Amino acid sequence: MVESAETDIAVVGAGIVGVACALQLARKGRRVTLVDRQAPGRGASYGNAGHLATEQVFPIADLSILKRLPRMLLDPMGPLRLDWKYLPKAMPWFIRLLLNLRPGPFQRSVAGIRSLNEGSLGAWQRLLGSIGRGELFQEDGSLLVFERPESRQALEALRTRMQQQAVAVDFWSADTVREAAPQLSPSLLGGLFFPRTGHFIDPYRVVCELFEAAKANGVRFVQAQVDGGRLHSGGVSLASDQGTLDARQVLISCGAHSARLTAALTGKRVPLDTERGYHLMLPGEHQRLPFAVTSLERKFIMTPMAEGLRLAGTVEFAGLDAPPSMQRAWQLHRLSKGLFRRDLSIEGATPWMGFRPSLPDSLPVIDRVCDGRILLAFGHQHLGLTQAAVTAEWVGRLAERAGGPEMGAYRLDRF
Ligand SMILES: Cc1cc2nc3c(=O)[nH]c(=O)nc-3n(C[C@H](O)[C@H](O)[C@H](O)COP(=O)(O)OP(=O)(O)OC[C@H]3O[C@@H](n4cnc5c(N)ncnc54)[C@H](O)[C@@H]3O)c2cc1C
Repeated sequence: MVESAETDIAVVGAGIVGVACALQLARKGRRVTLVDRQAPGRGASYGNAGHLATEQVFPIADLSILKRLPRMLLDPMGPLRLDWKYLPKAMPWFIRLLLNLRPGPFQRSVAGIRSLNEGSLGAWQRLLGSIGRGELFQEDGSLLVFERPESRQALEALRTRMQQQAVAVDFWSADTVREAAPQLSPSLLGGLFFPRTGHFIDPYRVVCELFEAAKANGVRFVQAQVDGGRLHSGGVSLASDQGTLDARQVLISCGAHSARLTAALTGKRVPLDTERGYHLMLPGEHQRLPFAVTSLERKFIMTPMAEGLRLAGTVEFAGLDAPPSMQRAWQLHRLSKGLFRRDLSIEGATPWMGFRPSLPDSLPVIDRVCDGRILLAFGHQHLGLTQAAVTAEWVGRLAERAGGPEMGAYRLDRF
């Protein structure tokens, strides 16, 4: 039996979203218990690319992908892989994704992503500043480079679309790229620079520091796997492998694993799937880039971090249970060949795989349901790190019944 302490809110899931929310709620005077089946920050939040990607205001797919899709899927080492055995399970999700490419739903998703992204930088500055760890985030922009002359038109079209969404973006010539990032190959033709972005120098440490701050604010941590629960007049009883945990409210923030608990507690089946992603950490290579650099054609990102250069990306549809295909992580090193004057060293490299929590309209669920007994914050897809701090601020307001009209796009009952 889990010790029955007086808990106002049980936060289930201690990734970047859950930990940031737990801290926010504790600061509002709530007695918070944070529950995770493993130590905090060991899910997707452990190994992401560390990019504060406020420029990424478009959904995970658009109509242009349909033309490229067959070729992409036939290349097992390409940026997109589908495990064909998983297709029957993923089919309803793909159908919803396709329906969301229609102009109306697509524009609603863009507006929803923008609204979160526009609050992200300020929210992170407030959050890291409040725990005295501002140095974990470097507001130094990020760069999208291109290397084929035929890509120039696509890049310019992207810039126009981004400007229409009020994204701050500058076109950089090949010379400007060379001056700013002299170790990149002189064969690069230029790129788009996003000044209102930046990177975290160690995403896992960010979770750990927020967790320490949460504990200092009275948050209690329980290591337990939550399997279900029931609502009653006084709140919620959670069933876990360590016994029952009672709370007045529960926040579900289990990332890609949130659907089962949401169904058990609210009766609602949410179409959450996972886009599995990979990273390869190259220790000792952290001096190669001054900021995060993405390749337009090769479709992966390279972020300088405290412990090395992290190469990250790729999308794989294979569900939550299939083992990782780590050759996809090693493939990232092969992809980097030719992007630098001197190839990156692979000595001591470590591969990793994580589960991006993705809904077919590219928006998270941030909501308060069941008479306020259940709060929800999950499904942040490729942008969970970017949007975690602003999500925590919104959840803090929701817990106090103060969600504003801007929250409509993230409601659970849109499904
Ligand atoms: C390769 C890669 C690169 C990425 N790059 C970026 C990036 O540059 N910028 C960006 O903004 N985002 C990025 N992302 C996305 C981002 O990492 C995720 O959106 C984010 O980490 C999700 O955070 P979370 O807290 O919702 O989930 P998680 O970090 O996955 O945390 C969920 C937690 O819930 C726990 N849990 C699950 N089920 C249960 C249960 N039943 N009982 C108890 N505990 C449970 C898990 O143990 C886990 O600790 C990237 C993702 C990947 C994979």
